Amino acid sequence: MKDLFADLNEVQKQAVSTIEGPLMIIAGAGSGKTRVLTYRIAHLIDKGVDSFNILALTFTNKAAREMKERISLLIGGTEAKNLWMGTFHSVFARILRAEAIKLGFPSNFTIYDQQDCINVIKKIINELQLDTDIYKPKQVLGRISSYKNNLITVRAYFNNPELIQADTAAMRPKIGNIYQAYVERCFKSGAMDFDDLLLRTNELLTRFPESLAKYQDRFRYIMVDEYQDTNHSQYLIVKALASRFENICVVGDDAQSIYAFRGANIKNILNFKKDYPDAKIIPLEQNYRSTQIIVEAANEVIAKNRDQLEKNVWTQNPSGDKIPVYRALSDADEANYVASEIFSLKMSQQKKNKNFAILYRTNAQSRAIEEALRKKNISYKVFGGLSFYQRKEIKDLLAYLRVLVNPKDQEALLRIINYPARGIGDTTVNKLIVGADQQQKSLDEILNQIELLGNSLGINKPTIDKLANFWTMIKSFQVLLKTENVYEVAMKVAVTSGILKTLKEDDTPEGISRVENIQELLNSLQGFVDEQTQLDEGDSSLNFFLENIALASDLDSRDEHDDKVSLMTIHLAKGLEFPVVFIVGLEENLFPSQMSLNTRQELEEERRLFYVALTRAQEKAYFTYATTRFRWGKIVEGEPSRFLEEICEKHLEILNISFTNTIRNHSGLNSDLFADDFAPRYPKSSDPVYKKLKGQIKPPQNLKSISNAKLANPVGGSVANLKIGDYVLHDRFGKGKVVSIEGDPENAKALINFENEGDKKLLLKFAKLKVL
Ligand code: ATP
Ligand code: MG
Repeated sequence: MKDLFADLNEVQKQAVSTIEGPLMIIAGAGSGKTRVLTYRIAHLIDKGVDSFNILALTFTNKAAREMKERISLLIGGTEAKNLWMGTFHSVFARILRAEAIKLGFPSNFTIYDQQDCINVIKKIINELQLDTDIYKPKQVLGRISSYKNNLITVRAYFNNPELIQADTAAMRPKIGNIYQAYVERCFKSGAMDFDDLLLRTNELLTRFPESLAKYQDRFRYIMVDEYQDTNHSQYLIVKALASRFENICVVGDDAQSIYAFRGANIKNILNFKKDYPDAKIIPLEQNYRSTQIIVEAANEVIAKNRDQLEKNVWTQNPSGDKIPVYRALSDADEANYVASEIFSLKMSQQKKNKNFAILYRTNAQSRAIEEALRKKNISYKVFGGLSFYQRKEIKDLLAYLRVLVNPKDQEALLRIINYPARGIGDTTVNKLIVGADQQQKSLDEILNQIELLGNSLGINKPTIDKLANFWTMIKSFQVLLKTENVYEVAMKVAVTSGILKTLKEDDTPEGISRVENIQELLNSLQGFVDEQTQLDEGDSSLNFFLENIALASDLDSRDEHDDKVSLMTIHLAKGLEFPVVFIVGLEENLFPSQMSLNTRQELEEERRLFYVALTRAQEKAYFTYATTRFRWGKIVEGEPSRFLEEICEKHLEILNISFTNTIRNHSGLNSDLFADDFAPRYPKSSDPVYKKLKGQIKPPQNLKSISNAKLANPVGGSVANLKIGDYVLHDRFGKGKVVSIEGDPENAKALINFENEGDKKLLLKFAKLKVL
């Protein structure tokens, strides 16, 4: 076994060797918090603590897996296998399976993903005849989620006039009714959503003292990574479990708290000292991840936040390169710059694709970047988009499997009852639902007796036969599940249900890829079967598979052996590190997001997000912003983000955009891109103006003067405010003075005398001048 302490600095050693009693490590990014947790677990096992008694909660299941592997390497042997490690959701889903009956749920309860939840909410809104413009399903779900995460049950809601009043004042007086119907519906379907996994765990631990005692006794050593992003519900679970032995260690960084919008509560850090007055608090200050320039730049930005705990993060790493700031003319230009830079770093420094991450504020930004990477044949992976398991064909097949395991799962049942089409129309389905409601039964109970009940529900004989056939087929799959492994059953379902046949009828490329996706799902089931030989055959194993899928985050599929550039939102990048990081879209109203400009607290959360983004970089960071961007179907103007201005200029290398790009385009790397990038505002490479410009280099412009400059002609806007005698700045021609203006406002042209370029006549609609 390795000397654990050899890889740690003095303070880290202290944290790792403090194993009894409450401990909180609040420290800056890259200071080794996660490493300390990992080593601490190894140390506990080394000291003779049974791994069965250790619980570690991480941000992703992949992080947990990696920690386990690391621990195995550190201590050798197989001890680490028994560790309970994973996200709050996956750990407590597992506990709830064992305890669900106490809470009135079947142990094979389904876990609803967001789409399932939204479908349920939509139906309820529809039934209550509410306006979906006022009751936007996603927002309603967000509201319900925040109630659940604050342990406000339906009953607590209706007992709290303030909450009712708040929703009424927000013109949504029926939220409580939707909430109630939603909870009832999930309960009847034997389904829990993500928030329920925490809420119901809290319920279990409060209502059943013997369960609390059991898990307190089991989890004698509890550790939580990324503690700053726990919500109230998670806080209470940890507090309840730890209250007996108080061997609790939490690590986090208040400066990286970025999930307030999902209910994360920074007070959890402050409460720690109150809950455990004897808690030991260990700060870590040395950053091992990033260059000095990156650490200093990150510190400068976060220092602007008022709400934060005092920290002094420093590093002994080399000072590293300045951070290039690229001012792009459009989102396409920005994307091409990033792709070109990756291309050239791969050439000049033998970097691999997987050494790069491109981080953005919103998922929509990935599209332009993907296109640019594709053009350069750079392979990449987008995290957090529509995941494999959310594709329609995959959800369809999974819905069959869900019904086999839990026939009460109404969402799944409604999804497949007439897919592939078998002549069971909406009217029939409605009759079933109404009948089930009237008789206080679930849909599967009605289907069990459809031949008896069908007539009284107003369903005609041929349709009753169709329903009976469908249900017999489902039953036959369930029987099969008792003897065959889940791969065989899923295969049988795909064939017998007609899913494969239906998909194969479509021989367009999309159709073919759907069939391939089904094949892929079947392959993963086969892989699962191979891995799970120790598990029982049949539905418990299928249930486990479905649970893994429901709780899998896209990040869990990150594979170190896959040589791909990572594209993700900053929220997902938490805890990760990459040699080279591009932070793109650094524009006001995008990052910081427009929605966050109302309050100081919201802006501070955006700033923390920026801090998280920048501190992911090990060797080099890049900033880019675009002066125009295609958003919401139109071109919008962008100003550089305030975060750029919060960094001292000595840490930045401000690039002159158009020239970098002109040269790059002319070096032959991507000359074909030029026309797309600049059209229609800029000349094509055959254009004489462009030829003349080739090879010219302008001195870098001061970022602040650019951001302060007023736009003369916002795209699509008016240019009327441009006057003779005004000084203007043009992206490529530089500074000039307006000599004359002619033509109607729509097609006005101005003669401008540029300092370095002489006279130019420009069509103002396209020229994009800034008035100085
Ligand atoms: P974040 O706040 O981003 O989650 P963190 O505080 O959890 O960061 P780690 O990810 O644990 O930091 O560590 C950052 C990097 O520094 C990792 O690559 C880790 O291996 C390395 N590191 C941490 N401590 C040491 C050390 N004592 N010696 C060498 N490398 C270290
Ligand atoms: Mg970490």
